[in-house]
Amino acid sequence: MRTVIDAHVHIFPPEIVQRRAEFCQRDRWFAELYSDPRARLATAEDLVASMDEAGITVSIAAGFPWSDPGLCAYHNEYLAEAAQRSAGRIAWLATVVPHQRQAASEAERCFQRGASGVGELNADAQGFAWDEPGALSDLVETCISARRPIMAHVSEPLGHRYAGKGTAWPQRFVRFLERFPDVTVVAAHWGGGLPFYELMPEVAVATNNVVYDSAASTYLYRFRVFRLVVDLVGQQRVLFASDYPVLRQKRFLERVQREGSLTESELRAVLGENAQRIYGVQLPLVEERDT
Ligand SMILES: [Zn+2]
Repeated sequence: MRTVIDAHVHIFPPEIVQRRAEFCQRDRWFAELYSDPRARLATAEDLVASMDEAGITVSIAAGFPWSDPGLCAYHNEYLAEAAQRSAGRIAWLATVVPHQRQAASEAERCFQRGASGVGELNADAQGFAWDEPGALSDLVETCISARRPIMAHVSEPLGHRYAGKGTAWPQRFVRFLERFPDVTVVAAHWGGGLPFYELMPEVAVATNNVVYDSAASTYLYRFRVFRLVVDLVGQQRVLFASDYPVLRQKRFLERVQREGSLTESELRAVLGENAQRIYGVQLPLVEERDT
């Protein structure tokens, strides 16, 4: 079977899933996304069951962009333990408030506990601005020296609104990229359309160390986006990602394979090799199965 890495999912401690109303009181952005009881929340156990059903080898799990560093540290603890229990099926990203003083040391602590990077950073949720990147320099320097990427929520300045969309638009995000050309960045949700501007030479320079993930793709773009972005930026710079539980892993993976119009070599890159390289994911040892 093919190695598949889902490069962007979200999991929560059971305590948060069970007491979501209380956490809606504690965090404005959590309320924006999850006060609607239909918005799904998943635990590590839910995720592994979904991966087994979908045939996904490894998922890279983010927490939530809390604005309180205490909640970030609590969520990081859960992610570290979930990864440890998962026998290599779950890799994780450190949740930090990027412009706060303790962000760099929290990221460093998480890297030592095995985090594959930092993210998902969210400017609107956490109260920083991508076009005022100076405030993020300690964290960025830490990520550069640890050779770990930063995964960022980026969204379109136009099109339909959705809960959690925010204003992390390409024209703001590119200011951050220009200021820190050496850090590897994963721009989530197809970078809010940034790949299309890479046809401009100066934007292509600024995005040299950027890769794009397909998180929540079907809520935003037609499936042609896979073929078009691979053509625009190359097969090395696109990561398969569902944003589970926003999208169902099995259905989305099947549709990418069927409707993404990618060649076998492009699928290998997009579905696994790129995430393995960018996030330094160690693949779990293959279990022998009878079936
Ligand atoms: Zn996400």
